[in-house]
Order: sequence, then structure tokens, then C-alpha cells
Amino acid sequence: MFLLQPNNDIAWLAPYAYAVVLVGFLLFLFRIFENWFADRYNRPLVRHYLTFKKVSTTQKTILEDEFSFYKKLSPKFKRQFEHRVASFINSKKFVGRDGVEITDRMKVLIAAIGCMLSFGRKHYLYSLIDYILIYPDSFYSTANEEYHVGEFNPAGKALVLSWKAFEEGYKITNDNLNLGIHEFMHAMQLESKQSRDIDSTRFAKQFQNILKRLTKQEVKDKLDETRYFREYAFTNQYEFMAVLAEYFIESPREFNGHFPVLYNHTKKLLNFNFAGY
Ligand SMILES: [Zn+2]
Repeated sequence: MFLLQPNNDIAWLAPYAYAVVLVGFLLFLFRIFENWFADRYNRPLVRHYLTFKKVSTTQKTILEDEFSFYKKLSPKFKRQFEHRVASFINSKKFVGRDGVEITDRMKVLIAAIGCMLSFGRKHYLYSLIDYILIYPDSFYSTANEEYHVGEFNPAGKALVLSWKAFEEGYKITNDNLNLGIHEFMHAMQLESKQSRDIDSTRFAKQFQNILKRLTKQEVKDKLDETRYFREYAFTNQYEFMAVLAEYFIESPREFNGHFPVLYNHTKKLLNFNFAGY
């Protein structure tokens, strides 16, 4: 006969084992609740957990001098934004092309544009981007054998930018042209197609709302009549969303005035409740 005896040597482990199982179960319940909450209220339950990373003094001066969105944030949001910009800079590899020397200013401003667009999200780091390639001006793209000022290349996990066009994009704040926002939106949209996290699910839901809205005859007529969005938006769904994001960021009041329902869906999609948006 063989009796399985509890092993007294490891019996002391039992409470810990129960605790681990319990914590796992609570996390599982939390995930379910988090998903339900995001779906019900169209925003993450907790958008930002810990704030401990800091940008350097030089980097902070760049944000203060050159980034108007940052200046409009409350002190609490400013610290969160700095944490996110620092994390972004740490997690991406910046590569200069055609003689470009990567500067702190380039890193900070590109990170700031990306983190601004994703500021309402819990997942703000763009999982489909590992490399930021910077050219001085427009560059030849082998993808479609044309000169481009920017592209998002998911196969190479790269965001490719002309520095000249990027700078013009964020410096001129009222022409609805913002290359950084445009390319980051492409990366965010593709991520939302490939992931199932709360931000991607919310993105997909609001994107469907936007598409539905575009099929309404009154909206089609208004788009024709006002010609508000530039022609390029109607190339395909991806370009439409990228252009929509540029208009949203650069002229929220005008956008809201012309197309309040579309504006509202975009605001929910980005969970953008900062700096007067
Ligand atoms: Zn595009």
C-alpha cells in the first residue's frame, strides 16, 4: 500500500501558493472589469499608472519653448507627459539618414508628437514602431517608387520622416497639415487592427462609428459641399483616418463646427480630454 502523505517540508508553502492563485484570479477579474468599463464608458479605467521617469532639463526646455500642447496641460498631466516622452525616447532607435545628425531636439519633438496623439490611451508607445528614420528632406521610397515626406513601414517597424516636413507640420499649427500626427496615426490604426487591448478595441469601435457616419447621405453632401477635408483623405480608409487626426489636432473648433458627430467619434477614439479639446 502506498499512502500519499503531505510533505511537511513544503507545507509552509501552501498559504503562499493560495495567495499566488488568488492574486492571479483577482487580476483576471480586474481585466474583465477593465474591458467592460472601457466598452461602457469609451475610455480606459486607468489611463496612466506610475509617473517616475523624467526628461532632462534640456529636453524639458524644448517642450516648454516649442510644444504648445505641453504648455496647455495641468501640472499633473505635464508630469505624465514627461514620463511618456522619456519612455518613448528610451524605447525607440533614432537613425539619421543622408547625413542627418540626430539631435535631442529631434528626439523630443518626435516623441512629443507621438505621445500627444496617444495621450488619452493606456498603451501609448506604438508597439509597431521600433525605429524612427529621419531624412533631411523628401526621400525615395522603394515601396511605390516615389518621393515621400513620410511613411510608416510596418514590415521594417519603422516610421520614416523628412525632418523639414515634420518641422513645418508641427510649427504651422493652423493649416491642418501635420506630418508627424499623420504617420503616427497610421501606426496606431494598424496596431488597433492587430491587437485586442482596451485601446485597440475602443479604436475599432469608434472607427466603425466614423465609417457608418460617412455613409449617411447628409454627411456625404456636406463633405462635397464644404470640401473641408483635403482631397487626399479620400484615398482610402487609412489616409482618411490620418487626415482626420491632423484636422482634429490642428483645428478642433473648426472641425467640431463643420462635423460635430465625426469630431465626437474622433475625440472618443483618442480619449482626448486635454488642453481644451
Ligand atoms: Zn498617409
